[in-house]
Amino acid sequence: MSYKPFEWKDLGDISTGRTNLGPEMPVAVYRLFEFTTKDVLTRRYGAETAKEIIRECGFIAGSEFYKNVIQEDNLTFDNFISKLQKAILQYKIGVLRIESADIARKRITLTVAEDIDCSGLDVADEAVCNYDEGFIAGILKCYTGCDWDVLEIDCWATGDRVCRFKAIGR
Ligand SMILES: [Zn+2]
Repeated sequence: MSYKPFEWKDLGDISTGRTNLGPEMPVAVYRLFEFTTKDVLTRRYGAETAKEIIRECGFIAGSEFYKNVIQEDNLTFDNFISKLQKAILQYKIGVLRIESADIARKRITLTVAEDIDCSGLDVADEAVCNYDEGFIAGILKCYTGCDWDVLEIDCWATGDRVCRFKAIGR
């Protein structure tokens, strides 16, 4: 079978497919998929490559999320942020707040509380939300047209109560 890049419509018609169960499911199921995938990727390719792959997956997801949920013509930065906040909440990914944004210098610091990927995890020695790093980078790339380096600097898994991401545009 020839390669076909992922697009939003590959998610299928969920409302037709799950007429009784509906579009939602427990966070544990999402995390089971996420952390077993991370386990296998880490065993096969090593921790650093696994993180890169997961970040790349997040980037594709963020791009598709932007194109299908956020995008509209003439979206100002303030409207973009407010639409993004609502969408992140509506999809129950977490509670997004912008701590600082200097769009001219392409520097944004944002936090996600109750993050779907890590809130409630045991404290470990590193931030774990690589998928979110990619997800945010994908969204920002689609909105601004330029590439962004996104790094998680605080995480539930490092003992903080929110995930904090620093985004720098190139
Ligand atoms: Zn985190």
